Amino acid sequence: MLYISTRGQTRPHTFTEAVEAGLAADGGLFLPETLPSLRDRLPAWSSLSYAELAAEFLSLFAPDIRREEWAELTQEAYQRFDTPEVAPLHRLDERTYVLELWHGPTLAFKDFALQLLGLLYKRQVKLSGKRLAVLGATSGDTGSAAIHGCMGQEGIQIFILYPAGRVAPLQERQMACTGAANVFAMPVPGTFDDAQRVVKDCFGDPAFVREVNLSAVNSINIARVLAQCVYYLWAWLRLPEADRATAEFVVPTGNFGNVLAGWLCQQMGMPCGSFRVATNQNDILHRFFTTGDYQQGEVLPSHAPSMDIQAASNFERYLYYLLKGDQAKVSQVMHCMKRGERVSLPPAASSFRSSRMSDDEIPLAIRKVWEQHRYVIDPHTACAFTEMAKDRVSVVLSTASPAKFPEIVQVATEAEPLHPTLEALKNRPLMTHPQQATDVAIKSFIRSHQS
Ligand SMILES: *Cc1c(COP(=O)(O)O)cnc(C)c1O
Repeated sequence: MLYISTRGQTRPHTFTEAVEAGLAADGGLFLPETLPSLRDRLPAWSSLSYAELAAEFLSLFAPDIRREEWAELTQEAYQRFDTPEVAPLHRLDERTYVLELWHGPTLAFKDFALQLLGLLYKRQVKLSGKRLAVLGATSGDTGSAAIHGCMGQEGIQIFILYPAGRVAPLQERQMACTGAANVFAMPVPGTFDDAQRVVKDCFGDPAFVREVNLSAVNSINIARVLAQCVYYLWAWLRLPEADRATAEFVVPTGNFGNVLAGWLCQQMGMPCGSFRVATNQNDILHRFFTTGDYQQGEVLPSHAPSMDIQAASNFERYLYYLLKGDQAKVSQVMHCMKRGERVSLPPAASSFRSSRMSDDEIPLAIRKVWEQHRYVIDPHTACAFTEMAKDRVSVVLSTASPAKFPEIVQVATEAEPLHPTLEALKNRPLMTHPQQATDVAIKSFIRSHQS
């Protein structure tokens, strides 16, 4: 099993190499050369624990890591979740299930991939004997999940930049109150794009990248997509058999990484019905799935900030399949999009639907679910609760715990959502390393703290 770039100008990589590189050298994203078939394997997988299922699935994609080693990695990654089910499937009524993806250390679904990625980094450090500096920019959830995946790991230091004063206070606490000596939470002036630009500038200096062995943490690593496939299989195996073939997965979407993982499972033979791409007011993907046009607009801040995205980075992977593997065409389309040009694409697979929720509707949706089911959801999950299919089962992917967004949830339910992990954070000292938003400042900080 080798990994190719969506743009076709990079030599095939092994799984370990593709994980280490993150982005392909030609600017494209890695994808497995072929997709294995899961159909005959699924029946035997229904009795596995979450970690066992993850090990079985991932070892199909990474023969360069032994199966026993996968079993250890997944065991270690998922035992940090606060329930033995890891991803509980909660039944709201006969047609609606909620897949709770927020039982990990940072209470959002990004833990599924980043707990594992942290352990893969650790394995790499052990094998190569080289220290690793992990660098990323975040507007919230990715940074804290990456930090919790790497904290305390020998040989790794993690540096996360974020826009000062523009991440939610609890999210900042999750990054800056770990107490771990290898974690550096670094507020910089400006917006998320400024922080992102500085990170890109650091990676644009190959001598520096080699000197400190710099690795990127972002949303496009192939290991993240594959780790996310597992919870779709897990949920599907837990649905009543009669509902499996028609069930619709409803996925609050930003960078398209989460829903792509589900669609890949279907391509590999998990026979489900459809996927609904649920967006907030930043609706580029909804526009694409309803009209075929793909054009970036301005990002509007919303109650569901992790979905405030206009350039969905993982969309390129879907584009590769949509354009039937024509890598030259993928490059061309990506270049047009980058220039903000409008692109017309072939019709999407019929297994995709989409929906949009305006910002005003989000608190109303939280309230409605609370009133109907006495169940509290967060503002990202809320975006799924519109245009529910009437004739089949829906599985809503719940991407964050409501306790991460207490203000808006309290307005909608009249009670403050509390979570012991977040309560504990409120009393811990905040340790940040404010920096100027320049690559010179960041590089010198990394050099002087890599010990
Ligand atoms: C990242 C995130 C999303 C969006 O996921 P994508 O993979 O970018 O589509 C949705 N909800 C929450 C809470 C997130 O953290």
